[in-house]
Amino acid sequence: MTKRLDTIIVGAGLAGSSVALWLAREGQSVCVLEAGSIASGASGVGFGLANPMMSRKGRPVWRVHEALAALEEMGCSGRRGILRPAKNEEQADYFIESCGLSPDIGAWVSPESASEQFPFLTAPFGLISIPSGIAVQMASQVRSWLEGIDVRENTRVKSWRESGQGVELDLADGSSLSADRLVLCSGSALLSDPKTQHLNLHGIKGQTIRVRKPAELPEPLPSLSGFGYVVDEGNSVLTIGGGFEHQWSTPLATPEATTDLLNTVAHLIKGIDEAEIIEQSAAIRMTVPGTRLPMIGPLSSSGRAWIFTGLGSKGILMAALLGENISRFFSNPLAIPPACGVVRRGANS
Ligand SMILES: Cc1cc2nc3c(=O)[nH]c(=O)nc-3n(C[C@H](O)[C@H](O)[C@H](O)COP(=O)(O)OP(=O)(O)OC[C@H]3O[C@@H](n4cnc5c(N)ncnc54)[C@H](O)[C@@H]3O)c2cc1C
Repeated sequence: MTKRLDTIIVGAGLAGSSVALWLAREGQSVCVLEAGSIASGASGVGFGLANPMMSRKGRPVWRVHEALAALEEMGCSGRRGILRPAKNEEQADYFIESCGLSPDIGAWVSPESASEQFPFLTAPFGLISIPSGIAVQMASQVRSWLEGIDVRENTRVKSWRESGQGVELDLADGSSLSADRLVLCSGSALLSDPKTQHLNLHGIKGQTIRVRKPAELPEPLPSLSGFGYVVDEGNSVLTIGGGFEHQWSTPLATPEATTDLLNTVAHLIKGIDEAEIIEQSAAIRMTVPGTRLPMIGPLSSSGRAWIFTGLGSKGILMAALLGENISRFFSNPLAIPPACGVVRRGANS
């Protein structure tokens, strides 16, 4: 007889793979169902940054030390160190203050030192150096977190319902599966899912482009954040990412967004807007209106069906931080940080 699964996870992105890894480590039987291939949603746009000082003022990300420790525990491969140039004097003032408040995370580099140490950059207002930041190939990271876990690709979940004993799922191929618990980590599909529409989640489209690295740049180019972000992949290729479209006519990459991204990063590195474009991709990252935090928790009082989404632009750090606590949250939903609870949030809440 086949053993009934403890948990079925829908979606093999950063959220689903983190939850799967932590549950499997604790001995639970888990299965991840993925409509496409692993990391075919937002987690598949290429390189991203786990940036501990991401806000406009360069304040530390929420619970950043716990998030970095969780990432370390999970295994996170990627080049360490991020530079974050200030956009103007006002932002430089905030950055100086943030480095003063969190010297363990970021060190302020004055405009003079910046131009001496990083002559290839345009950083006339100075920059923050963030040694613990990491440039991560998100899809590879997801794959490595899912190693040894039962992942079923090309398996779309059509619908699900709670039953007294657990959750029943109907798959697009006509078969069904059941488990004690379900965790929906299905990214932008949650926007059109009748069972989650009431949560008023919000999608923001972003884009990445891969360009041929200009020969005059150093080897490797440090990872850059601020005006979009730039990551040196090696092999003379750079990934440039960014873009915040709240409405879009196509989910695909567009030439307009590519031009915007290139113009944006040209403020950082002169001439990069003329680099040869190799590839472009776009995706929707999920956010929770009224908060800058993810949403995690049970969708109903039975506690059988859960959701984990809203990772926004901090997918790598937030997936690690909350995924690490998933089984604690299962046994005590009150342990979920209240700001991350499952409630309908209006745009002004
Ligand atoms: C351009 C861009 C740049 C970004 N840069 C960064 C960055 O630098 N740093 C950072 O931390 N974050 C970054 N992010 C954000 C990060 O990518 C997301 O927060 C994260 O990938 C979200 O992960 P997820 O698992 O919630 O969703 P997704 O990765 O979208 O995964 C959802 C998965 O569910 C599957 N699915 C959907 N419906 C079903 C169904 N019915 N049945 C089965 N499977 C289903 C989908 O196929 C998909 O694979 C960026 C995002 C974008 C778009």
